[in-house]
Amino acid sequence: MASVEQRTPADTNGGSAATIGVENPATGELITTVPMLGADELKRMAAHAREAFPQWEAIGLPGRARIMRRAQKWMLDNADRVLDVVVSETGKTYEDAQLTDLGYTVSALGFWAKEASRYLADERVPSWRNPVLAGKKLVIRYAPLGVVGVIGPWNYPIVNSFGDCIPAMMAGNCVILKPSEVTPLSSLLMAEMMRECGLPEHVFSVATGDGATGAALIGEVDCVMFTGSTRTGKAVMKAAADTLIPCYLELGGKDPMIVCADANLERAANAAAFYSMNNGGQVCISVERCYVEAPVYDEFVRQVADTVRSLRQGVPTAAGTVDVGAVIFPPQLEIVDGHVRDAVEKGAKVLTGGHPGSGPGRYFEPTVLVDVDHSMKCMREETFGPTLPIMRIADAEEGVRLANDSSYGLQASVWTADVERGEQLARRIEAGVVCVNDAQVNYLALNLPMGGWKASGLGARHGAGGIRKYTKVQSLLVTRLGLKRELFMFPYNKRSTMLLAQMLKLLYGRGSRD
Ligand code: NDP
Repeated sequence: MASVEQRTPADTNGGSAATIGVENPATGELITTVPMLGADELKRMAAHAREAFPQWEAIGLPGRARIMRRAQKWMLDNADRVLDVVVSETGKTYEDAQLTDLGYTVSALGFWAKEASRYLADERVPSWRNPVLAGKKLVIRYAPLGVVGVIGPWNYPIVNSFGDCIPAMMAGNCVILKPSEVTPLSSLLMAEMMRECGLPEHVFSVATGDGATGAALIGEVDCVMFTGSTRTGKAVMKAAADTLIPCYLELGGKDPMIVCADANLERAANAAAFYSMNNGGQVCISVERCYVEAPVYDEFVRQVADTVRSLRQGVPTAAGTVDVGAVIFPPQLEIVDGHVRDAVEKGAKVLTGGHPGSGPGRYFEPTVLVDVDHSMKCMREETFGPTLPIMRIADAEEGVRLANDSSYGLQASVWTADVERGEQLARRIEAGVVCVNDAQVNYLALNLPMGGWKASGLGARHGAGGIRKYTKVQSLLVTRLGLKRELFMFPYNKRSTMLLAQMLKLLYGRGSRD
């Protein structure tokens, strides 16, 4: 594995001696250990970040963009090393790491470097809507918050962690990133990258540690961006309430896929296999359940099962060696196995896979389940593994009803040759993003908001909102040439009161209603 330079407060300040072991899920081997930071180290880190903040804000958008563009080039120049580090601590395939952890991030570095100035530019708003304001200058300004805390999960150790730090830093904030204890090395590599690209010290820091480290971070920052489970997301929101800081949550999903009888079946079947199994199914926007109209159900199931049966699983030794990688998080194997066993006990049939894989690493066989229904965990709870339950439905109406029968609302997809009908169905699905004849790739559209409804989250990534959420809005009202006394000022008198009444009637009393 490519080495990662480790520089955290535990090294520099003689902090906690406790460490966390980082292992390769594909082989079970211990890679290295990283410091487990406690509350005192977090306090020091936040104090350093606060000191660094004024200088970072003063550099301005062009200066910050320059550093992000350098980072974009660094990542491409060091692509092999980036992929090696991600693959080693996740056990995912090179292709999964390339498309997302590398591909998304280089694109995001360029996107925010370019678009931040547009999204964060001062906005003039008209003052003529009320004569009292006539001639005044009204401006909306987006000011950085200060220190932003990002808490990330293990499934995409760069995308879902450093990916959120890019817009936060571009907005002028310093950032402290708490990566998952299972996958901290990718974040440490990103810190090394930013140092080499000229980022001033303490603008971006990585706080390695466990859940307690994440909890301590929330008390030190001015905003928290969290990605992970709904359960922990609720704890994060409660903690954010204590210091009354903004809190954004990207939580779990149970994304439904509805396949209509007129869909391009081959494309839909390939997509079902891919979007449920890529990254080992450990994607918040994985296809987690599939509903297929009766006339094409048998053929669709046959095609999906054939594809999934042919998938290669194992240690990703190089590009092109395996299709489905390891289970990254140790307890996840038990969750995935539990969902499959629960389904089988309740009458589901396993067409392929169905068991934990063998070997010193952690695997679950790519699995297709049929004869499933909503009494089963695999149709209601987030599985987060390489499994796909497929259910026969009478028609798309039933599909929409079942899609909405969920506490989650992250993403969904509809597959049909009639794209207008597809869009109509999409608008009736309770999810933050719905694709027609596609899935997941919307995440690469950095100008399209991506966020969950219901128990899937609060706020969104990407688009204007994806960077403005790391700012505080300041409204400015500037009066250049003012009267000595405005009409509505003291002393009140009958004449000016009548005049104002006439003005209100003139302005708002005309025109028909209804
Ligand atoms: P968690 O939500 O528990 O962890 C996510 C991050 O939060 C990690 O960095 C974790 O640290 C940290 N954390 C844990 N407890 C706290 C706390 N009290 N305050 C602040 N931060 C905290 O996810 P898990 O890793 O336990 O996975 C559980 C389930 O979450 C999975 O089975 C899957 O269903 C779902 N999941 C969803 C993801 C998504 O993209 N939406 C991504 C990953 C998982 P540490 O890891 O060090 O404990």
